Amino acid sequence: MSTKVLISGASIAGPALAHWLSRYGFEVTVVELAPALRGGGQNVDFRGRTHLTVLERMGVLDELRALGTGGSPMTFLGPDGSRCLHLPAEFAGGEVEVPRGELAQLLFRHSAARAEYVFGDSITALEETPGGVRVAFRRGASREFDLVIGADGLHSNVRRLAFGPEERYVRHLGYYAATWQLPNYLGLPPGSVGLNVPGRLASVGADHRDPTRAGAFFLFASPELHYDRHDSAQQKELIRSSFADLGWEVPRLMESLREAPELYFDSISRADVPSWSAGRIALLGDAACGATIGGMGTGTAVVAAYVLAGELARARGDHRSAFARYEHLLRGYAQGCQKGGDRTGPFLAPRTAIGLRTRSALLNRRWILDRMLELGKQVSSVELPDYSDELAA
Ligand SMILES: Cc1cc2nc3c(=O)[nH]c(=O)nc-3n(C[C@H](O)[C@H](O)[C@H](O)COP(=O)(O)OP(=O)(O)OC[C@H]3O[C@@H](n4cnc5c(N)ncnc54)[C@H](O)[C@@H]3O)c2cc1C
Repeated sequence: MSTKVLISGASIAGPALAHWLSRYGFEVTVVELAPALRGGGQNVDFRGRTHLTVLERMGVLDELRALGTGGSPMTFLGPDGSRCLHLPAEFAGGEVEVPRGELAQLLFRHSAARAEYVFGDSITALEETPGGVRVAFRRGASREFDLVIGADGLHSNVRRLAFGPEERYVRHLGYYAATWQLPNYLGLPPGSVGLNVPGRLASVGADHRDPTRAGAFFLFASPELHYDRHDSAQQKELIRSSFADLGWEVPRLMESLREAPELYFDSISRADVPSWSAGRIALLGDAACGATIGGMGTGTAVVAAYVLAGELARARGDHRSAFARYEHLLRGYAQGCQKGGDRTGPFLAPRTAIGLRTRSALLNRRWILDRMLELGKQVSSVELPDYSDELAA
């Protein structure tokens, strides 16, 4: 009899795990809170041998390269409107950069024929029984699974239900970020240009696929804010009030925010969970070791899905040893990647005028940029087991 696995969350980690588990013969169900696959978000990137090896083994690397944006150069303007820093395409773009929504679509497409996807529902209770986990849902009837995986992001529902409240695991790193789509009214080329003042960045860049569209990316320093994560009107107001005093294109970008149908808004935070599993329940991706923006969360999610599925296939039903091996192989690697996210806010929007000037003066030197890119590749590298025998088994 095949092992029944429930995955909560259909963004990056969830579909990547569904892809592998279903190929190994597991019976997979994915439950996603949103009514359909969520689009939106910025471009996300893969860099270094480990990321590319996993994507190649998944059979998606060529498709991703075809979707690739070619990277996104970033230009920063000082308060007087003059250019203070330019980062070339490969700095933020890594070796393969794709829009987050298109990556989610691709991973979904590659797993949808072999896995059951349930949209618009959410787990409300998890009860471990001697032989499995009884799961209650907000809308659907209760069901029994052998294993449950929380791939439901930084604010994971599974983590809250099985491991305890979010405050125990998620640390705010002092900044908030927002992205939304708008018409490319400035006629900008791909890449972004943004006003950078102490503690804030307000930027906009053309869509790589459709030059009539653009994406805004705003970031600001702030102590932890308390707001409803499902109330985008409230989030829009928070962003508006944080940028109300700025000139340049900011007032017009704020108008586009008012109309934006889809908003991504979150704190720059990281999740640290002392143990990634509890009995038959485990965490994956941002739920286990997330770092919003700059912490290579997308690459880590894809690599971790590969290892978790491979270990479960290899363990032949012994989930305890599979979960332990998964964590043993990846914890150090994931923590190394997360560290990049700790520096994202202060890097993109230093809090003081002198901090801004120093960052720009340093980063305008090509050899410093090259060194940072090289270090990024080294950090995102780990020895990967080869699970190809499990596919043939
Ligand atoms: C719409 C969107 C936009 C994003 N934009 C950016 C961005 O611009 N920059 C950036 O660095 N990162 C962004 N991210 C986060 C980025 O995708 C992750 O950091 C990374 O790819 C790891 O992915 P993940 O699958 O672990 O988590 P996430 O990508 O956060 O996915 C979690 C998924 O779980 C779902 N979910 C949440 N609660 C429940 C529940 N109760 N039941 C079922 N499902 C649930 C969510 O809807 C989401 O689909 C975005 C995520 C989303 C969902």
